[in-house]
Amino acid sequence: MKTIASAPLAENVMLPQYDRQQLKTRIVHFGFGAFHRAHQALLTDRVLNAQGGDWGICEISLFSGDRLMSQLREQDHLFTVLEKGANGNQPIVIGAVNECLNARLDSLAAIIEKFCEPQVAIVSLTITEKGYCIDPATGSLDLSNPRIIHDLQTPTEPHSAPGIIVEALHRRRERDLQPFTVLSCDNIPDNGHVVKNAVLGMAKKRSPELAHWIQEHVSFPGTMVDRIVPAATEESLAEIAHALGVADPCAISCEPFIQWVIEDNFVCGRPQWETAGVQMVENVLPWEQMKLRMLNGSHSFLAYLGYLAGFQHISDCMQDSAFREAAYRLMLSEQAPTLQITDVDLDQYALSLLERFSNPALKHKTWQIAMDGSQKLPQRMLEGIRVHLSRQSEWPLLALGVAGWMRYVSGVDDSGSAIDIRDPLSEKIAALVAQSTESERVSALLSLYEIFATDLVQNPQFVAAVEQAWQRIAQYGARQAVIETLKN
Ligand code: NAD
Repeated sequence: MKTIASAPLAENVMLPQYDRQQLKTRIVHFGFGAFHRAHQALLTDRVLNAQGGDWGICEISLFSGDRLMSQLREQDHLFTVLEKGANGNQPIVIGAVNECLNARLDSLAAIIEKFCEPQVAIVSLTITEKGYCIDPATGSLDLSNPRIIHDLQTPTEPHSAPGIIVEALHRRRERDLQPFTVLSCDNIPDNGHVVKNAVLGMAKKRSPELAHWIQEHVSFPGTMVDRIVPAATEESLAEIAHALGVADPCAISCEPFIQWVIEDNFVCGRPQWETAGVQMVENVLPWEQMKLRMLNGSHSFLAYLGYLAGFQHISDCMQDSAFREAAYRLMLSEQAPTLQITDVDLDQYALSLLERFSNPALKHKTWQIAMDGSQKLPQRMLEGIRVHLSRQSEWPLLALGVAGWMRYVSGVDDSGSAIDIRDPLSEKIAALVAQSTESERVSALLSLYEIFATDLVQNPQFVAAVEQAWQRIAQYGARQAVIETLKN
């Protein structure tokens, strides 16, 4: 059967302009998900197009993705990214991936050895918050996580991402090989420190000498990543097949906007990503905070309130004047004042976000963004709220966002339909919901220490504001609650 590697492709398709035979596995990447394909892989491909080189990527998937990876192999590791903008669509075939390994298709031993090849310089990750096995309440490795328990008992046959990285670094040290840089590209605050805590937490349990060596020789640069990449659907794959002239089951579509800000701290070299427009900086935290609070915070607000109100996509929310105004005010009046960034025009940034959210071609589902709320709420909303509480400033829309999440995880939308809730804490959340009446719900859910810790729960202003917002949604429904809140 013809694939993108063998079929003639439509004329406007952009193809790799470099010699792919030169590629070696210099980057090993965990998590061949939607985002990585349209972001790091595409930007690395851009560097290769600009200057050639050997910066190939080996994709690793641990728990799923065997079908995707078989398909990727069948098409010579080429795949398509379709950038969908207001002025039309651009299909781009990415050539930067030179091999892939999957725990089901290949042996775990082969996967670990891949990390130990001498030329490997970077291990990057897009494995979502859960993949780091961090206890959100302490920020340290979660020693009660079953995968971590397993990896500490059998360190030479690890299953978790931190366990595999530590075993690979152990073997590299034993073999006198250079270490590698560990580059988290997940959308979690201070992602460099998160992955460092996970790796060092595991290494310390194994051997203090190994932990010391890692601390001395391995770097964990922080990154801010931005591009909206909805999960692939049958519809999006059919659209891409039409644009190419042949099916590509590994393809993904996304918006045209792309941003990557990286702390420039690499122990064994890196691609010249700046030639692809990547910003290399000393401190990524102010950038990350801006993105998490303004973009992701308003995205989550729209996801919970919008889903409850019956909006399937973010762009549908943006067609509603109240939701649009609420997102804009949330960004500028409630999130922007809590930020530390100095050299960005935040008014302009907010306007550009509204434009990106409005892109009707993207079909970014509110349900998808609403997933894993327990892992997202703290950095997207609660951190900003803490700043307001300390300054005694107003935050009505953030309160509505938190109450919107509570309403969402209570499991029924405003039309009375059941909600399919996906969250690592879903069992705990469901138990709290089942044990509480509507009027007890806020205090029941506030008992989730992993999300609200103790300071917020003990703050009467916080509790009262969320209770009031909850009442508003209960009384009016989500859409009218947004309108009522905007009247304040
Ligand atoms: P995805 O579900 O498409 O991909 C997630 C990948 O992580 C998959 O390959 C999966 O196999 C792997 N994974 C999941 N749990 C794992 C675990 N415990 N250990 C190892 N691997 C695991 O999701 P995505 O959209 O690609 O998102 C990935 C990351 O990128 C997230 O952190 C997300 O916040 C971030 N991000 C996504 C977007 C977007 O628009 N999609 C934008 C910015 C940032």
